[in-house]
Amino acid sequence: MSRTVAFIGLGHMGGPMAANLVKAGHRVRGYDLVVTPGPGLEPAASATEAVAGADIVFSMLPAGRHVLGLYDEILPVARPGTLFVDCSTIDVSDARAVHERAVAAGMRALDAPVSGGVVGAEAATLTFMAGGGETEFAEARPLLEVMGKRAVHCGAEGAGQAAKICNNMILGVSMIAVSEAFVLAESLGLSHQALYDVASTASGQCWALSVNCPVPGPVPASPANRNYSPGFAASLMAKDLGLAANAVRDGGVHAELGLRAAELYASYAERVGAVEDFSGIVRTIRDQSREQA
Ligand code: NAD
Repeated sequence: MSRTVAFIGLGHMGGPMAANLVKAGHRVRGYDLVVTPGPGLEPAASATEAVAGADIVFSMLPAGRHVLGLYDEILPVARPGTLFVDCSTIDVSDARAVHERAVAAGMRALDAPVSGGVVGAEAATLTFMAGGGETEFAEARPLLEVMGKRAVHCGAEGAGQAAKICNNMILGVSMIAVSEAFVLAESLGLSHQALYDVASTASGQCWALSVNCPVPGPVPASPANRNYSPGFAASLMAKDLGLAANAVRDGGVHAELGLRAAELYASYAERVGAVEDFSGIVRTIRDQSREQA
């Protein structure tokens, strides 16, 4: 069934996601503060113009404050009962506040952050992690499946964001652990390949090692083999770990490694930003080890 969709935020992720909805035959009105809507999208002069008369409103913005600001602007003009699907990665508490405001305004809402990056947005292979009601998820699902290969309903409002930051906290901590192990191996005279051959088939096995291996050689497709060009940019890992750290503190959770990983990625990303894959943190660990030696 063809739907009338508003898509707000047409950056690196939102642009190709909206284009995939157009390709699937949906009518998509696009708006971005900076980016001009791509071919096939109906350009709107404002977010409110994009939203008026839409069945479903997608947003893909940088942070929670942008989503809260946008919703304050568009909720008053949307048709009652419109489904709002925010795909941005934001704090769980902001996602819950966004949901509350939408419902208070007579709308329905889902948080549906993604993993898969720009490549996944272009190829429509994203994974969506959704939080909200069953009915809302069932309604959004056909559109999510146009933009991605998988959509998982994780629970009530905020559960999509919760799943995303918990997963990325595992990833950040495990990438640091794998990187430290490779630098330790170097100091012990153990080759990268030997460590890989053992750990990737033993209890050290994890995605950070066997897919995104932080040293060149053992996994030819990993970013380490192309001078750490992303991949998953260090700045995005730092952002997601910052969101995880906020949730850890809010919940009084004793997650020492998660908090430390957030600090390490924040200082690493400050230096390299979006130009380097997050696995490049191995170089910082190596450099700091040399300074200490
Ligand atoms: P981006 O900066 O390329 O795009 C965000 C867009 O939002 C910009 O074009 C900006 O002009 C627009 N914008 C901001 N406020 C607006 C408003 N009020 N109204 C209209 N447009 C507005 O960022 P991105 O890489 O597309 O990421 C978007 C979200 O997706 C972020 O929350 C990010 O954490 C998440 N994400 C990104 C990736 C990735 O690989 N880039 C992967 C997974 C998740």
